[in-house]
Amino acid sequence: MKKIAKILALVLVLAMSMSFFAGCSKDEKAEEKTLKMATNAAFPPYEYKEGEKIVGIDAEIAEAIAKELGMKLEIVDMEFDSIITAVDKGEVDFGMAGMTVTDERKEQVDFSDSYATGVQSIIVKEGSDIKTVDDLEGKKIGVQLGTTGDIYATDDYGAENVTQYGKGADAVIALKGGDVDAVIIDNEPAKAFVEENEGLAILDTEYAVEDYAIAIKKGNTKLLDDVNAALSKLTEDGTIDKIIAKYIKAE
Ligand code: GLN
Repeated sequence: MKKIAKILALVLVLAMSMSFFAGCSKDEKAEEKTLKMATNAAFPPYEYKEGEKIVGIDAEIAEAIAKELGMKLEIVDMEFDSIITAVDKGEVDFGMAGMTVTDERKEQVDFSDSYATGVQSIIVKEGSDIKTVDDLEGKKIGVQLGTTGDIYATDDYGAENVTQYGKGADAVIALKGGDVDAVIIDNEPAKAFVEENEGLAILDTEYAVEDYAIAIKKGNTKLLDDVNAALSKLTEDGTIDKIIAKYIKAE
């Protein structure tokens, strides 16, 4: 190659790589805002850790929503009990944690349209004399702190009969160890915990049926509208069903 051709080629490569990097920072990095989500990554299959990564139905739906909004998703792991406060204080943009819509929570945050149904289930030891919800009377019940299972059990059976654990998995360990007679928790985590632990069973009777939705700061109607629009698109194009099917195998 002649010297002049070599120089030309070099100039061309330099120019191309410069415009490539300039393009990247302008179109992707600078304009891509971060959407911060609070969750409690101890709630399989909705959110749990695979190594350091938080995966699950909520994590993937949130990822798809962020993509729709042209934003980058960041997930912040915290106690379930802290999520509503974090949303209310604006420390995060939204909370997504298999969270049930309740009237009390609606006083603190707004909820998106519902994207899934949850059922409060009862886990017992195999062969337990607890066969139905009515048998829970006077029994020791384990729950996850601040969840609807906690709230209902405390209302129905009295705080003195309810032990609150930071994680559902810890309530299940207490059940195995005989510290509690039953655990009330959402059906999908219940299935995951029973699968991981021998000698446990889920009662056929359902304790409560509920709607899961995304918690957004009160008054942030822009984000609420955007999230609902994204949810409806992702429902229509089958993305949400696909994500759910990936984590929940049909029976
Ligand atoms: N669905 C229950 C609630 O909203 C439990 C959620 C959870 O533990 N992540 O209270």
